[in-house]
Amino acid sequence: MSNIKDIFASMVFNDAVMREKLPKETYKSLIKTIEDGKELDISLANVVANAMKDWAIEKGATHFTHWFQPMTGVTAEKHDSFITPVSNCDVIMEFSGKELVKGEPDASSFPSGGLRATFEARGYTAWDPTSYAFIKDDTLCIPTAFCSFGGEALDKKTPLLRSMEAVSRQAIRVLRLFGNKTKKVVSTVGAEQEYFLVDKELFEKRKDLVITGRTLFGAKPPKGQEMDDHYFGSIKPRVKAFMAELDEELWKLGVLAKTEHNEAAPAQHELAPIFGTTNLATDHNQLTMETMKKIASRHGLVCLLHEKPFAGVNGSGKHNNWAIATKEGVNLLEPGETPSENAQFLLFLCAVIAAVDDYQDLLRVSVASAGNDHRLGANEAPPAIISMFLGDELTAILDSIENGTPYDVHKQSVMEIGADVLPKFAKDATDRNRTSPFAFTGNKFEFRSLGASHSVSGPNLTLNTIVAEELSRIADKLEAAVEMGEDFNKSVGALIRDIYRQHKRIIFNGNNYSDEWIEEAERRGLLNLRTTPDALPCFVARKNIEMYEKHKVFTETEMRSRDDIHMESYCKVMNIEALTMLDMAKKQILPAVMKYKGMLCKTAVSAASLGITNDVEVELINKISTLVGELNESIGALEFAIDESHKIADHYKLMFFIRDEIIPTMNSVRTAADGLEEMVGEDYWPFPTYDALLFNI
Ligand code: ADP
Ligand code: MG
Repeated sequence: MSNIKDIFASMVFNDAVMREKLPKETYKSLIKTIEDGKELDISLANVVANAMKDWAIEKGATHFTHWFQPMTGVTAEKHDSFITPVSNCDVIMEFSGKELVKGEPDASSFPSGGLRATFEARGYTAWDPTSYAFIKDDTLCIPTAFCSFGGEALDKKTPLLRSMEAVSRQAIRVLRLFGNKTKKVVSTVGAEQEYFLVDKELFEKRKDLVITGRTLFGAKPPKGQEMDDHYFGSIKPRVKAFMAELDEELWKLGVLAKTEHNEAAPAQHELAPIFGTTNLATDHNQLTMETMKKIASRHGLVCLLHEKPFAGVNGSGKHNNWAIATKEGVNLLEPGETPSENAQFLLFLCAVIAAVDDYQDLLRVSVASAGNDHRLGANEAPPAIISMFLGDELTAILDSIENGTPYDVHKQSVMEIGADVLPKFAKDATDRNRTSPFAFTGNKFEFRSLGASHSVSGPNLTLNTIVAEELSRIADKLEAAVEMGEDFNKSVGALIRDIYRQHKRIIFNGNNYSDEWIEEAERRGLLNLRTTPDALPCFVARKNIEMYEKHKVFTETEMRSRDDIHMESYCKVMNIEALTMLDMAKKQILPAVMKYKGMLCKTAVSAASLGITNDVEVELINKISTLVGELNESIGALEFAIDESHKIADHYKLMFFIRDEIIPTMNSVRTAADGLEEMVGEDYWPFPTYDALLFNI
């Protein structure tokens, strides 16, 4: 392993490199432009581009690309070389400011939800100077936002950047009232990433894994995760080698990969980075997922980022740790030391409580996908019901504020906002409940409902905007109170009490996996949007459109286009899964079972001809025949349902047809096939089974 200090961020054109490579004046103007969020002047861009190119060539780069995050959820890039011909037989390496600042990829094949008809195919990409350029695979990658010529966002980055501005704007209004003069507030994210590693040769033998990323068939292995021996267990040499190389590659890209350990399921692992500014953390998480796949293949492995690669075994999620801090690095969700800091902390906390309650639907939508439907509510990940964990101590403090009763039995004192200091509560005590979708963990919130393959952009732009909305309501009220000359501390106290009283139904510190909670949540009137089709339609509810428009994160047109993309993507994923399942059942499973059954029949016949008893063979043949009958019938039903689904053009209707007709039929096909797997001889089964996949690295 090389020296970490030498390699860390060695492939990033970051602040230190800019300072070194750019003329002093250029550097200063660039930083100012970045801080003010202004457009880059072309003469400035030319100088920056040239320095970037020289630096990149020194590092072995030959190409550049605008690296962007279209609505597919993965990143996209189109490579151009630096080569420019200067005469018939000579070239120079060139990269202009224009090429740095703006690109025009032919983007007609990226999803736009009708925003950009194919005849006006061109969108444009624009450099996001708040995220540093980097070199990957000998290519200088320039992080960019992707928009239509009308200025509508076609990507996951643009609205995220807008949401960061929104939360900054509103948080500053509240901070001003407390005398804080900071110029900018940023949201911060640390995304813990779960993943599976499987052997590449075995992987390639399974069409379902290759095509859909998850197994559509597979009986439970004799040993699953019940022994709990994998979690934090010792890491196998092949996996260790993978992790070491992954860390090194990520460090070169400036990704702060920090913790690597085994997860609950066999063959499952996790990587946690050190948190950073949300847009950078989002870029870095995309890079992490991409790098994981690349490095795995160098080790004869495949990295599965699907939410549920194996039925009956824990799936993979992503824990999104989120907080907001001032530009100077003061975390606004950190309980403070002084009465005034605490009043401010409680107010920000209340903004998040209200946001999660008022916009449960949007948070749920932000983690909805076909893959994640297998995890949420399946006793391995939070339920589909969004609620919030605060811990007993913090809840008791808020209760006492609400009721004007003492929170501390010993002291018998009532907490007075702006006059008292919060009691110190142990951070650890807040972090024991692992079943909550949204948990306060001492100085940040951990949103645990994300699927492993998701871009963290959606959940974070949602969080930023809904918290911005609640902060704006708080600021409106407090500014008015100040204007009227009311006592500030009293106004803050009253506001905290009111918000808590109105929204405390969203707080639940118990076991979110229990059936009692589902009933209790219903009594409280909380939403339980079980599946993606249940959740997605909420996105374009009037209150949500108004909120996003108010904070200039989405226009209604952008929301409607995204709504369509989300629905279409669900339908496409499910259609591919259904077709793959049909193909495997008909062309692989049925023939294999027939072969095995044929062998049994032959054995039975020859036994009979020798006058030997063939009871066992006959019994097996009968059992298999029954199951094959069931399989065949379900295959017919699935074929019919798929044909019917292809007649439905409307994504909204199709989504529900899939939920109600296709998925139940797929489940029947699987039940019959998995039953057969348990009966048919191992050598006859057409693809590697769960125990081979899970215990073979
Ligand atoms: P656990 O596994 O117990 O959930 P970890 O320590 O593995 O916790 O991960 C916590 C994650 O939270 C890390 O990625 C860490 O960098 C991140 N984090 C810590 N503080 C903040 C913060 N203020 N804002 C956002 N993320 C944070
Ligand atoms: Mg975690």
